[in-house]
Amino acid sequence: GFRCGIVGLPNVGKSTLFNALTQTAAAQAANYPFCTIEPNVGNVGVPDNRLDQLAKIAGSQKIIETQLGFVDIAGLVRGASKGEGLGNQFLGNIREVDAIVHVLRCFENDDIQHVDNKVDPIADAETVETELMLSDLESLEKRVPNLAKKGMQGDKEAKIGAAVLGQALELLRDGKPARLTVPKDEDEARVFAQAQLITAKPVLYVCNVNEEDAANGNALSAKVFEKAKAEGAEAVVVSAAIEAEIATMAADERGEFLGELGLSETGLTRVITAGYSLLHLLTFFTVGPKEARAWTVHKGATAPNAAGEIHTDFEKGFIRAETIAFDDYVTLRGESKAREAGKLRAEGKTYVVQDGDVMHFLHS
Ligand code: GDP
Repeated sequence: GFRCGIVGLPNVGKSTLFNALTQTAAAQAANYPFCTIEPNVGNVGVPDNRLDQLAKIAGSQKIIETQLGFVDIAGLVRGASKGEGLGNQFLGNIREVDAIVHVLRCFENDDIQHVDNKVDPIADAETVETELMLSDLESLEKRVPNLAKKGMQGDKEAKIGAAVLGQALELLRDGKPARLTVPKDEDEARVFAQAQLITAKPVLYVCNVNEEDAANGNALSAKVFEKAKAEGAEAVVVSAAIEAEIATMAADERGEFLGELGLSETGLTRVITAGYSLLHLLTFFTVGPKEARAWTVHKGATAPNAAGEIHTDFEKGFIRAETIAFDDYVTLRGESKAREAGKLRAEGKTYVVQDGDVMHFLHS
């Protein structure tokens, strides 16, 4: 599955957010650094109101959301790229995730120690980013010369790598993230993606605020939003402490509590939705009387790839996919009317799945 890694300096609220997200006590929040030593992984359902609409039309008994993984990655301190704190372990864990959820402390509280003794989310973000850039820089300082050498000896892949990663290296030497690299063709793009550079991953900033700022944010979160905008990144305001509280409530209590705080949905819903959209994935659906279910594939995935998400045998024995666009399914109120209207398409092996497709796979 696809995963977001939760990062940030110690004591900014990562574990609190993670706990709320997964509704487990697995990662115990505590008021000291290095509390969560092993990376904790939790899967959460991605809210999608299209799923409710489809289930209603088909009379599905059950709704199953697609899942997004969150990893609580502890141990980032200044000097992590040089192996300080849990540096090396931290960097290994973060290399494997698909996107970064960067938690920034935007709340004042004298009882909770800040590692640098001041609450300054922009400075914190820069501390973290510097470590991530140093880590990428260090790894490329070794890799690029090796690739260049192999490239000279006739290794084509290595030559592509040397070119595109060489460009990333120049950026990093300039103090810029690797995501500003512009691959010149599809081969370079592929090799660049395979390199799993940390600063090439998309970022969502989560501004962790106190309860009273949960609805509208504060001056600190406003600065983070400006920063995000300048970088083409996303940002959301959340009060992790409140989210942790909400996570323990019954569904009916939740609505009331949110209303009192002036919120229409939980901060977690916004984190999950923004995290999901960061990954540039797409969702397709399978719908029947038993269940309506959402599934995730990469943009550009073919019908057999989508079938493979459900079962590897479906991909191997793929014959065709009966497909209805979401809007057609809803407008025509279900499969049989869509079929009558000629909106149920028989798609073959090369069909590229579209966001919202309602699919039924025929396989041998
Ligand atoms: P981590 O080290 O980043 O994982 O931080 P934790 O989640 O362990 O949180 C550190 C401390 O800050 C804990 O005592 C939390 O209860 C507290 N905390 C987390 N979020 C908030 C918040 O939004 N407001 C306040 N006042 N305290 C918070």
